[in-house]
Amino acid sequence: MPRTPPEMFRIKVVEPIKLHPPEVRRKLIEDAGFNVFRLSAEDVFIDLLTDSGTSAMSAAQWGGLMLGDESYAQCRNYFTLASAIRDVFGFEHFVPTHQGRAAENVLFSSICKPGDIVINNMHFDTTRANVEAQGAEARNLPTPELFDPESDHPFKGNMDVEKLRGNIEYVGAGHIPAIFMTITNNSGGGQPVSMENIRQVSEIAREHGIPLFFDACRFAENAWFIKLREEGYGDKTVQEIVTEMFSYVDGATMSAKKDGLVNIGGFLAVRDPQLFERVAQKLILVEGFPSYGGLAGRDLEAMAIGLREVLDENYLSYRYHHTKFLADALQERGVPIMTPAGAHAVYVDAKRALPHIPREEFPGQTFTVEMYLRGGVRVVEIGSLMFAAPDPGTGEMKFPEMELVRLALPRRVYTISQLEHVADTAGEIVEHADGMGGYRIVQAPRVLRHFTAQLEPCETGKC
Ligand SMILES: *Cc1c(COP(=O)(O)O)cnc(C)c1O
Repeated sequence: MPRTPPEMFRIKVVEPIKLHPPEVRRKLIEDAGFNVFRLSAEDVFIDLLTDSGTSAMSAAQWGGLMLGDESYAQCRNYFTLASAIRDVFGFEHFVPTHQGRAAENVLFSSICKPGDIVINNMHFDTTRANVEAQGAEARNLPTPELFDPESDHPFKGNMDVEKLRGNIEYVGAGHIPAIFMTITNNSGGGQPVSMENIRQVSEIAREHGIPLFFDACRFAENAWFIKLREEGYGDKTVQEIVTEMFSYVDGATMSAKKDGLVNIGGFLAVRDPQLFERVAQKLILVEGFPSYGGLAGRDLEAMAIGLREVLDENYLSYRYHHTKFLADALQERGVPIMTPAGAHAVYVDAKRALPHIPREEFPGQTFTVEMYLRGGVRVVEIGSLMFAAPDPGTGEMKFPEMELVRLALPRRVYTISQLEHVADTAGEIVEHADGMGGYRIVQAPRVLRHFTAQLEPCETGKC
């Protein structure tokens, strides 16, 4: 029995990729200011920057593109998508959006006022930004197990239910326009949320008359973890689990660039007909007419097909085992990772991988640059380069909880032997860690600096 079950699909279209010689990679990363966001995608061999919008579509989805009805209003594909959203999630009212953040913008600008507080197990960065853009506060209430790397709790993505009760009591339900649950918890390592936790949060929300929403980007991966790990769900179909999950919420935002298996698309669904009227009006202002919402008819068709396809248990089993293969291969090579791994990415703990590099010198960035230099692999630093900032009050530098490097896995794109190359490259870094130094920022903007910053290598302790 192979460790990884065989993939239940075959490859029909291929795209050549190239691995430049090491000296060319060195020159390219130097020219990019040692920032992988500045590398041309064509100069990357294996691209694990994100799982968003990078999926391979199926033959059925590519076929669906040819069914695109590009009429301005009420195109055929809108109705195909409406029936998929009704069947899969049980939502009657929705609007398509061009991606997840547009759904967030339309929702939060319709329900938040300055001083409000939106509660989430953990806000994704665009979600936080859209809440804050309304003058509201984005508050995270993750379960404490999330930050314990030793804990192998099966649902580290859960919300802290006791803290939720306390917060509602203290703030007052009138100041909380919505509670959100992000499934899976992307910013928290892609960790899943249990059905029990969803049920408890929904009871509390209902008790206080606060609407509960899903940030549903990885709803199918979350449902798969419930099937695998939660008592009483092993014999249920993924669709049954999804139906139960969504029965507890009043609406959802979704970036279909994840579990929609498309390269662009998203939606906002709400159950309240009056709120739906308001969001549909707002959508016309910022995205487009409510039947297409910033997408072409063909994109709606591909999304409708992807939302059903993602529930295929052969696909979800592949997805789970594929990521697990990378996580296991990294651990076998002595690369420290966050465990248990989620479904969409593996996170390397750079603090443990490169313990001699101080946080001021960005150990995660050293790891990231070395992945490109040694293997042509693009990954992303999620640590001090992304998050460290001076405290607005004291001016003292504040560092994030963890120094992580994310290896995100596009869906149905890379093979097991390509993942072996990734693991070998990471293993080599850990093996030769001693000789490696950190980085210093040469030039960076004030906000979201990790996207465009330019850096240079420096000798450890002398940066
Ligand atoms: C990707 C993502 C979003 C935002 O979606 P975009 O399509 O990138 O705008 C919101 N929430 C979560 C959890 C995500 O992963």
